[in-house]
Amino acid sequence: MDAMPDLGFTPAIGDHALSAKQRSLLALAHRLGRDKFAPRAAQWDREASFPFANYDDLREAGLLALCVPESHGGLGADYATYMMVGAEIGRFCGATALTYNMHICSTMWTGVLADGIPMTEQQRSEHARRRELHFRRVVRDGAVYAQPFSEGSAAAAGRAPFGTTARKVEGGWLVNGRKIFASLSGAADYYGVLCTEDKGDQHPDARDTLYLAVPASSEGFAISGEWDPLGMRGTVSRNLTFKDVFVSDDEQLMPRGVYFKGAQTWPAMFFTLAPTYLGIANAAYDFTVQYLRGEVPGEPPVKRRMYPTKQIAVAQMRIQLEQMRSIFLRAILEARPDPTKDEKMRLYAAHYTVMEGANDIARLAIRTCGGQSMMKHLPLERLYRDSRCGALMLPWTAELVLDRMGRETLYEAGEKDA
Ligand SMILES: Cc1cc2nc3c(=O)[nH]c(=O)nc-3n(C[C@H](O)[C@H](O)[C@H](O)COP(=O)(O)OP(=O)(O)OC[C@H]3O[C@@H](n4cnc5c(N)ncnc54)[C@H](O)[C@@H]3O)c2cc1C
Repeated sequence: MDAMPDLGFTPAIGDHALSAKQRSLLALAHRLGRDKFAPRAAQWDREASFPFANYDDLREAGLLALCVPESHGGLGADYATYMMVGAEIGRFCGATALTYNMHICSTMWTGVLADGIPMTEQQRSEHARRRELHFRRVVRDGAVYAQPFSEGSAAAAGRAPFGTTARKVEGGWLVNGRKIFASLSGAADYYGVLCTEDKGDQHPDARDTLYLAVPASSEGFAISGEWDPLGMRGTVSRNLTFKDVFVSDDEQLMPRGVYFKGAQTWPAMFFTLAPTYLGIANAAYDFTVQYLRGEVPGEPPVKRRMYPTKQIAVAQMRIQLEQMRSIFLRAILEARPDPTKDEKMRLYAAHYTVMEGANDIARLAIRTCGGQSMMKHLPLERLYRDSRCGALMLPWTAELVLDRMGRETLYEAGEKDA
């Protein structure tokens, strides 16, 4: 079996050269995933319940503060390192990895990403002061943040201002509106809500997007709706409503107007949904190899590897996995503010390749392993269902990535047909 000698396993991102910090974080994530998350994954899926036990483990291991800077007591992981760790967790429990991404983004957007977004001196010092509070909650209290931006409108696709609004009042903001698909609903301590500043002039503008942390205990905040989906069932992504919810000024996770600039400056911030699905693709591949070799624990030791058709299918899966790993790795290593056009195109291509590829590999895995492999006591059918969800995630659904790539290839910025 493949394995990097110093780690004892090949990471989900492949056998790339790693720093000492990356090696130790990947070893930690792999150990937790293999020993704790994988054995529990079927339970969250069956019950469509949140993986609280996994979050206790993440908290205890310090991984909730993975992207909090070391100067604030966190582990100080950069963008690429988070993407590697996220993929490793996704290999063992997709729902944990996807929700972990929502939490991590609240520290990464306000941390390392915000450092690369232009701000005035005043905004920079306001941000430095406020994020201290927010980092302290994660490091000291083990707080968990959700990241609800979807609303069932064109807003999450980046084509309209958010319908959820925040009106300035003495000492803070009054939030009103509704979010859908809020992963971690009922599990998060804070909800990092994207909303539009209501200036009272009937002209909502995406440039006035605010990023506010709404404490779960806020008056006027409620969670509603059923949650019984096809896949990623442990994410518990229900609806949120905000009715005159007051949040103090200190709950601003970014200064006014900075989120909009950030989304333009740092497109790689939307690529953070992909590692979960690279992890799932690895899991489907790993399972197939184990199954065909007759080495799945608890299953009869029946070998199926001698059939040429199985060998060809495994080769196809490996080719696709290598393609996914290569483009993923290149995209995370070159991610930065204001990427070149080629870098941006590659980022879109990487996102599309991972989101569609994960489902493709899971599909091939089921076809190749056969009927007995899709029983509920084995992980493959869950991987197949979970893998289907990646291409649906806004703002970069598979459809919208194609849309962006085509348009941005054929039109330079600002170009129009006469
Ligand atoms: C498991 C899971 C967890 C999630 N967790 C979160 C979360 O934590 N936070 C969060 O904010 N969201 C979350 N989402 C929501 C997700 O990001 C999308 O918002 C959601 O899947 C969109 O569903 P919809 O039916 O409202 O899509 P619609 O908006 O109806 O769009 C349907 C499809 O049409 C296309 N489309 C949409 N808008 C346009 C447009 N303007 N132009 C062209 N094509 C367009 C897209 O391809 C899209 O997939 C989650 C989703 C899933 C499946």
